[in-house]
Parts: sequence; C-alpha cells; structure tokens
Amino acid sequence: MKNRVPAARQAYRLCQLCSDRQGAGAPTFEVVKGLECFVCGGLMDETTNMAEKAASRARRFEFRTFAVGVSLPDGVQEREDELRSELRLKGSETIKTQAARLVAVKLAGLTRKGMDKMKPDITVLLDFGANEASVTSRPVFFYGRYTKPAGVQQRRTLCEHCQGAGCKKCRGTGFDLRPSVEGALRKKLGGFSGSDRMIFTWLGSEDRESRVYPPGRPFVTEVKNPRKRRFPKKFGARLRSGLVSVSSGKALPSKPIRLPSFRFVTRIKAVAASKIAPEGLAELRSEFRRAPVTFERPHNRPTTKTVYWVSAKARGRTLLVEAELDGGLPVKRFVSGELVSPSVSEVLKTEVGCRSFDICGVKEIGEFGFAEVTWGEEKN
Ligand SMILES: [Zn+2]
Ligand SMILES: [Zn+2]
Repeated sequence: MKNRVPAARQAYRLCQLCSDRQGAGAPTFEVVKGLECFVCGGLMDETTNMAEKAASRARRFEFRTFAVGVSLPDGVQEREDELRSELRLKGSETIKTQAARLVAVKLAGLTRKGMDKMKPDITVLLDFGANEASVTSRPVFFYGRYTKPAGVQQRRTLCEHCQGAGCKKCRGTGFDLRPSVEGALRKKLGGFSGSDRMIFTWLGSEDRESRVYPPGRPFVTEVKNPRKRRFPKKFGARLRSGLVSVSSGKALPSKPIRLPSFRFVTRIKAVAASKIAPEGLAELRSEFRRAPVTFERPHNRPTTKTVYWVSAKARGRTLLVEAELDGGLPVKRFVSGELVSPSVSEVLKTEVGCRSFDICGVKEIGEFGFAEVTWGEEKN
C-alpha cells in the first residue's frame, strides 16, 4: 500500500518555484517544467518578462519608489488552495505574494528604484493572465498662492451657450473661453506634470474684476496620475489682462482632509445713496473692531464671522473701505447688508453698494489636516 506522500507527489507536479513556496513540512514534489506545473501552468516563468514590461511602462513616469500588484488568472489561487488543504500545508507565501516579490526585485534592478508598499510614487499592476503591465502614479497635491489682475475669473466655468456640450462659441471645448486662474494653472501644471486631470480647491474666492495681490490666495490642486512629480515654487502665466502668478508652491504630503480657515484684507470701492459724513467713517472704525457679524447663509444655517478692523475714506458718495474679514464672509454683502448684519450700510444708515473689491492679503489660520491612511495600494 502506498503512503500519502508518494501519492501526493504523483498528483501534484509542480515547477521549482511553486514547489519551493509550499514551505516546511511539504513533501518533495516531482518538479516539472512550468507549463506542466499543476498550480501555475508556467505563469511563474513570466516574472522576468513581466518585470521588463513593467520597467518599460514605468519609464514614462518620474518616480523614486514603486509598489507591485498582481492579478492572476482564475483557477491559479484555487489550485494552490486545493493543494495546501489536501496536504495540510501552510506554505511560506501565496503565489501572488511570490510573483509580486520576484517581479519587484527584478524591477528594482532594472529601474534602480526602491520598493515602498505604503506610499509608492507609482504602482505597477501586473495582469499575468493578459500578460499586461499598467502603471498608475500617486497624485500630487500641489499647494500654491496665486495673484491675478482684474478681468480674470478664478474658476473655469462651463460655456453658457452649450453648458459643456461643446459648440462653436467655445470652439468645442465646453468651457467659457474667457481667461481664468484655473485655466492658466491647468495649462502650467499640465506642462509640469504631463497630466491634464486635476481637481482644484480654493481658499475662498473673489470677483472676476478683483485683483489679488501678494502673497496671493491659497489653493490646492490634486494632479492625478502625474508623469512628473516636481513642480516649481514660483511660476507665472501671461494672459491678455495681465499676469497670473503662483508663489509658495510645494507638494503637500498627502490629500488634505481639512483645510485651514483664513482671514483676508480687502480694499473696497463702494458708492452710498447719500453723502457720507466724517462721523459715519469714525463709526465704521469703532463699530467693526473684532466685531461678530451674522451671515444668514442661503440654504444653510446662519453663521457668525468676525470683522477685525475697518478703515474708510469718503469723497462725497464714494467710499474707500479697507477691512480685514474672516474667510467666508462675502464682501459685497458685508457692504450692502443683504443677509449680513451689522454691515457698512447698516452702520452708515444709508444704502451702500460695492463697486469692486481687491484682495490684499490672505492669512491662513491653522493647518491643513491630513488623513492617516495612504493612497490605496493593492495588498499582496
Ligand atoms: Zn508553478
Ligand atoms: Zn459651448
């Protein structure tokens, strides 16, 4: 009568790698060529080929570290599970782990880059069934501050004739062709990164006609799947209406889940319904000294913001106001008093309308918050 081990050896013929992987207590399998291997059917012979494929795909990316993920054709993992349960083997690692590890070692040699499972610059996905390698890169979260001239809106907006579908007016782009900070940044960041997939987050906004002065308004751009990961600290984009420039540029460590709050200094040009008396100006100054101001937000709960200081000059009905406000308090409403109280109108006891306002300084209060988890890499 045959004992268990020779029976198993007969049933399970494995390639060298698949045999090595079965760990302590495994019987001595009959070692065969890859194609005849019960578990992998020759897939484990493909690691060099896969590493070369991965290296050639990765060449298009600038990276320092990589991770490797593997997918195997149906049945491979199941056959290894069957073998292990039949022979009561724990195995030293799974076929997936071994495949990923072997490719990673070869890829490290070919590219001279390091492996980093937690926060790799690029992730290589190897589909052993399809004999394909694909590479995706970790997004870059670019922080910067922009300044802009009048006549440039902050965001790129949809074409108002076609609402994004693409028409003659927008030359098929679906977007308003007038210059925007976002449009200028997309072009620049696109050039630096080799990616055109971006998501913008702004710390507040202003009007198209507002100028934003140094040090500029902070923003964060998530650049998805970038080819290149290094961005200049400073750059500019010349538009017909003037220069949009970026300074303080840097890459954030990961996706911000909490933005800092901020306050800003604004210079407002306003017109009152009646002539402003000097007493009115003095009243503005004294009324708005770290003053809480209520903003009845439409579709939202009322909020209280602080006005830190106001100084004002008047010539007849024309008013020049400088003020420091909490982020999120709309300048025009603070002047007119619509949904905001107290307001410039309320204190001066006359209707005042904001003509234009510029942003002269944005100060961040607090820090960005980052999540603990890193960008999703496949676990092997
Ligand atoms: Zn095998
Ligand atoms: Zn259009």
